[in-house]
Amino acid sequence: MTELSHEAKIGPNAVIQLIQALTAAGLHDQAKTIFTTAGASDWLAQPPAEMVDERRVAAIHQTVRQLLPPEQAVAILTDAGLRTGDYILANRIPKFAQVILKLLPAPLAARMLVKAISAHSWTFAGSGRFSGQVGRQVIFEIAGNPIVAGERADSLVCVWHAAVFQRLFQVLVSPKSHAVEVACAAHGDPCCRFVVDWRAVQPCCAGAAPTATEGCCGCGCGDKAGPPRESAHSAVSSR
Ligand SMILES: [Zn+2]
Repeated sequence: MTELSHEAKIGPNAVIQLIQALTAAGLHDQAKTIFTTAGASDWLAQPPAEMVDERRVAAIHQTVRQLLPPEQAVAILTDAGLRTGDYILANRIPKFAQVILKLLPAPLAARMLVKAISAHSWTFAGSGRFSGQVGRQVIFEIAGNPIVAGERADSLVCVWHAAVFQRLFQVLVSPKSHAVEVACAAHGDPCCRFVVDWRAVQPCCAGAAPTATEGCCGCGCGDKAGPPRESAHSAVSSR
């Protein structure tokens, strides 16, 4: 194999944490089938430790979506994303920086975290073009997201990425943080776009339709807008 450029590689946790999620769910046989079908059975036997070819990671993630029932695929990829977030928190963000982020007001912490995520975006976006913007919410975009390269889907599929973002924001910005993909290249959109909201978005509100006179579900949380209309699967709030 020819040497891949730096940009065509992605962090090994996109594979390692997926194996962990499949194992934790007791899906040993399915994991074997998925990795064999994706041409990556070598990684199931010996998980990668270095940056890896993003195309092989894409094949594995897409095979999860093809072979598992849709809800189970979402659950596994979400769990893998949360585990990846946990790995990053345990190994990649210095503890003193985490203490500072937790002490800062949420909007300021969000701004600093977006900067840090953007600086390391190639570890999860590979050759994709990543951008992060902070306003009242955070908008992350990945144009040319390699994980969904060539994939066509009726729904927005990048729950793994959403779960990584959600975990980092929940721990470092606000436990109320919620991340969801609102546009997806696999769904025919120009890019994959994620919205992270660090303010209160309660589960009852996320699942209810807003009314003209009440908040989202009458619970008084003040979320008049409700969830993004196109949202497919939000990452879980805890595990
Ligand atoms: Zn996507």
